[in-house]
Amino acid sequence: MTNKTKYIFVAGGVMSGVGKGVATASIGRILKEYGFSVTAVKIDPYINVDAGTMNPIEHGEVFVTEDGLECDQDIGNYERFLDQNILRTNYMTTGSVYQAVIQKERSLEYGGRCVEVVPDIPNEVISRIKNAARINRADFVLVEIGGTVGEYQNLLFLEAARMLKLSEPANVLFLLVSYLPIPQMVGEMKTKPTQYAVRTLNMAGIQPDMIIARSTLPLDSARKRKISVFCSVAEQNIISAPDVDSIYEIPVNFEKDKLGLRILNHFGLKAAKKNFNKWKNLAEKTKDKKLLPVKIGIAGKYFASGDFTFADSYISVIEAVKHAAWANNRRPVITWLNAEEYEKKPRALANLRELDGIIVPGGFGSRGIEGKIKVINFARMNNIPFLGLCYGLQLAIVEFARNACGLKGAHTTEIKPGAVYPVICTMSEQLANIASNNLGGTMRLGGFVCEIKNGTLAQKIYGSSIISERHRHRYEVNNKYIDELEKAGLVRSGINPDKNLVEIIELPKHKFFMATQFHPELKSRPLNPHPIFKSFIKAAVSK
Ligand code: GLN
Repeated sequence: MTNKTKYIFVAGGVMSGVGKGVATASIGRILKEYGFSVTAVKIDPYINVDAGTMNPIEHGEVFVTEDGLECDQDIGNYERFLDQNILRTNYMTTGSVYQAVIQKERSLEYGGRCVEVVPDIPNEVISRIKNAARINRADFVLVEIGGTVGEYQNLLFLEAARMLKLSEPANVLFLLVSYLPIPQMVGEMKTKPTQYAVRTLNMAGIQPDMIIARSTLPLDSARKRKISVFCSVAEQNIISAPDVDSIYEIPVNFEKDKLGLRILNHFGLKAAKKNFNKWKNLAEKTKDKKLLPVKIGIAGKYFASGDFTFADSYISVIEAVKHAAWANNRRPVITWLNAEEYEKKPRALANLRELDGIIVPGGFGSRGIEGKIKVINFARMNNIPFLGLCYGLQLAIVEFARNACGLKGAHTTEIKPGAVYPVICTMSEQLANIASNNLGGTMRLGGFVCEIKNGTLAQKIYGSSIISERHRHRYEVNNKYIDELEKAGLVRSGINPDKNLVEIIELPKHKFFMATQFHPELKSRPLNPHPIFKSFIKAAVSK
């Protein structure tokens, strides 16, 4: 490859929620299949310094990088599609950029001159993008600009893209992910909103080189021609992107319009190799309706605006279940279990028998937790495969303490600080943070090692005695109650060696009952499903 990194800026037009993140990740996958080193950067136009303080209902799941940054779920999409770690260098928000510039100003790094929004903010953005390129030794850096063109909020990021193109014209490509509606009363695909989006981009000094045309249907040649003429983009550089059943089909679909080749042509590059087989096989499997189903229930509370919110709030868990199901040659069928419903109607619990497995994922606060505890109890008593993730482990401990150890009133101090049996307690390092409201980016975050106990299910699953997994929590199992829990049959199969924290628990007599203080779902990839999820699904489908 040339010695110069290429930058592809991806902006969104017309409306949000059309799959810009997955489109970005898919482009990355294609370029990787062509033999290039690729990384992806996400820019969020919020004042929040990171995504950790944002509610999953509003912003979707908070993803955690290996090096402990709480960031947007799109970083998870990049990791899943690229099958590689994306580190904190690759995520920024308006808040984090301004914070850095102001800190530099306070330490006189601008040499006494007047610091201005333009060019100093875009320059900070550019230097971060270049840093990500350097650290990842990337041939290509994809830069996804959050939001939609025409918003006030992301203008400075478009400005950064424009300025980078000015200094390195041969190394920058602008791509617009647009949407073409098909209004029912008209019955045909309309290009006008896309034309307006391109004009808006033009006003920011940017002419797109390519357009990805999202719609329910493929783009026909008449529409391609029209967009080409009105938006000054070569017809071959307008890529049709109709709705698909599975996001993992998208790279394959893009390639039908030769997206990869068009990008390489733009930069005057040639592919080093091309090997799409593994990914194509995966995409085929995700569509295979003949596979037998595996029915997994996920007990959550984020139902604010229906299934969409739920799917976004738990995206890594859902994807990890899918990866593991496909690896077991099963078709994943996921059911949302509204935790609060089991508080009001305990009789609904009986329906859980129809499931092959149950997951209680991570969470915060009191809403729905008694319902989750009931669900865990039902899975434990009825030998239904169960996987608890973070809060899911903590609530499994509460359930076990209350019902198997007779510790009535056992609770987590997150909900009941004065609990009689605080079986889940505040981590000592967190006490000062909580007392002083120092709550942004201060949880136990990112990868930590865990020692696996010999002869346990965890050891069988990992095939190793030391592992590392990603965390995001303030509370932990209270070691004061370990003896009682163990006497009643609970096994601590994973321990953090530095702090003696419980990381994995299991119940050996159960068909599959495992919970982790960490989030294995964050490391599951379609071509590399997580071993815990794989083993959970295997148990779920075994008779
Ligand atoms: N609320 C719990 C804690 O902070 C669990 C967090 C989580 O599930 N990510 O420890």
